Amino acid sequence: MFREMNVEGFQRVLLHTDDASGLHAIIAIHNTTLGPALGGVRFRAYHDQQEAIDDCLLLAQAMTLKASVAGLDLGGGWSVILGDPTQRKSPHLLRAHGRFIARLSGQFIPVNDIGTTQNDIAEIGRETQPVCAYGDPSPMTALGVVEAIRACMSIAGLGKSLRSIRVAVQGVGNVGASLVELLHDAGAQLIVSDVDEMKAKNIASKYGIDWLPPNRIVLTACDVLAPCATGNVIRTSNVSNLQCRVIAGGANNVLEHASLESALMARGIVYAPDFCANAGGLIFLSEHMLGHTNQQTIERVRTVGDTVMTVLQMSQTLNTTATEAANELAMRRLRKHSAGAGY
Ligand code: NAD
Repeated sequence: MFREMNVEGFQRVLLHTDDASGLHAIIAIHNTTLGPALGGVRFRAYHDQQEAIDDCLLLAQAMTLKASVAGLDLGGGWSVILGDPTQRKSPHLLRAHGRFIARLSGQFIPVNDIGTTQNDIAEIGRETQPVCAYGDPSPMTALGVVEAIRACMSIAGLGKSLRSIRVAVQGVGNVGASLVELLHDAGAQLIVSDVDEMKAKNIASKYGIDWLPPNRIVLTACDVLAPCATGNVIRTSNVSNLQCRVIAGGANNVLEHASLESALMARGIVYAPDFCANAGGLIFLSEHMLGHTNQQTIERVRTVGDTVMTVLQMSQTLNTTATEAANELAMRRLRKHSAGAGY
């Protein structure tokens, strides 16, 4: 059964339930002004359909802003499959989702997210093209974060050299571990943490660096705090006790709520909006789709630093937060293109 919902601000929101395969899924296309909407396929046991719709809409909208501010010719969309992937995932169901995506005639390009793998996307790709399964984007996300850190450091008066700069990395999974390697090579002084203590200890011994239990990393004294784990890292309860000069990392939704950014500014802490700092992975995927070389991809990912610098300077000129400046930059590009032909 297919149902199309009218949601203000979204181009299309589609619901699909398919008894034969057990598929219960949603696709939200937020905006394709700049190009087809690239977005994740999240397979998760939501409490109910409304929670799944809300998640899908937020993520789709965020993709539009992220692609636009990164200067990519991509739009924003997202897709969710409801259910526990460990119980419900099957090739049959994934192919049904592929046929659902195919109804959008290339307007939505799926990539793996929580609960799906690149193999799952390849399975989906048996029913619809294009799909995005080009390898792990995390090293490029980390490279973009390094450039975001440099831009923030420069605004914070710390210069651009990472040598001897003390960086606290929260979470040493795919992005965090790559970030540690890059920062270590650049001569930074590192301290790491992970809820999986073995991971933190292994990375610490590999590079001869310090590690901290997870409850201590956010408030540790450092030049740069790099959140690379989950969201809601900066909270009302900890913002006044932070001891860093810069916050830039790979994690999404770093701030518990938007108003905390003003509190960071008041304390002189330079914050790189998460969707600008962690755009390297999306740039990597876009470059692959365009058939660009590794070297071209690396150069393009390094522009994350320029974007963050532009956003921070705009925030100073416009007297806004960096996130407001980033949103404005994204909207300007969308307005400019929607005046033209669009996708
Ligand atoms: P991951 O699951 O590989 O790594 C996350 C790590 O954080 C894990 O080792 C986990 O044990 C640890 N962790 C969780 N909660 C923690 C806490 N409270 N304190 C310390 N450690 C904690 O994920 P990833 O792919 O490295 O992504 C990290 C973050 O970056 C996520 O928020 C993700 O949404 C975001 N992100 C990732 C990419 C990418 O290319 N992978 C791109 C953009 C954004």
